[in-house]
Amino acid sequence: MKGKRFKTKKKFGQHLLVAPSIIEKIVDLMDVSEEDIIVEVGPGTGQLTEEILKRSPKAVYAIEIDPETYPILEERLSGYENFHLIKGDFLEVDLYKIADGRKIKVVGNLPYNVASLILVNMPFYLEVLKLCVFMLQKEVAEKLIAVPGTKQYTFMSVFLQTYFDIEYSMSVPARFFKPPPKVTSAVVRMKPKNSIPSFDIKGYKNFVSMLFANRRKMLRNKIDENILKKAGIKPESRAEELSVKDFIRLYSEYLAGEHKSDNQNN
Ligand code: SAH
Repeated sequence: MKGKRFKTKKKFGQHLLVAPSIIEKIVDLMDVSEEDIIVEVGPGTGQLTEEILKRSPKAVYAIEIDPETYPILEERLSGYENFHLIKGDFLEVDLYKIADGRKIKVVGNLPYNVASLILVNMPFYLEVLKLCVFMLQKEVAEKLIAVPGTKQYTFMSVFLQTYFDIEYSMSVPARFFKPPPKVTSAVVRMKPKNSIPSFDIKGYKNFVSMLFANRRKMLRNKIDENILKKAGIKPESRAEELSVKDFIRLYSEYLAGEHKSDNQNN
């Protein structure tokens, strides 16, 4: 086993997947075809990467931050001409550059310390995404599929559900990793929605985040009552009670309101 000479590090959130059956299931969820350009976040010692490569996609770009994995990955996967190792931090890589006008599938057994950041970045790449399949902390996965009125329904739920259809594919107990994480994990599958709002993603992200800060506060304390009324939302309601559609409508009204006050100078 090549993985044996590798010592995992906490600072990079390394929990290697060691169960072939789970690895196969994750790759099954990706529906790999020969045209696929696949980007993997954190290949580690390459178990998942190798299973993907066995299914003959057009190319795999694996982005890994830990230099100690590079010789292991290079030795293990050098036989695959379609394998490309990108040595660096995923958060600093521009996926538009890798995609180069094509669509990509993004996969990864994510480092849990930066999983939320990685997820929140995904809507910004929507135009080049075909599919994402991620292993996450179960707790985060539950937020991604949460419905209004529940404790799990947060900024992450609304922001990501605005742009993706999200499926909770399976729970994965800690014993399938080396070393086992403290929490249970889960795999989610995220597909870009067919129709998405055309407004600026960054502005919307800040808006949703602002409405969820002090989540028990009534919306009328955070946003002009007229805008709430125009969007058909009770001023006494709280962010956690609104559906994703409500958020989209409310932000559209908010933008229209801003525009109007610009024009009329009031
Ligand atoms: N895919 C492997 C390893 C998963 S552990 C497996 O399933 O066994 C998470 C991996 O992400 C580690 O290899 C870690 O070094 C890497 N990683 C952590 N932070 C990263 C970052 N910001 N950019 C790229 N890789 C990162």
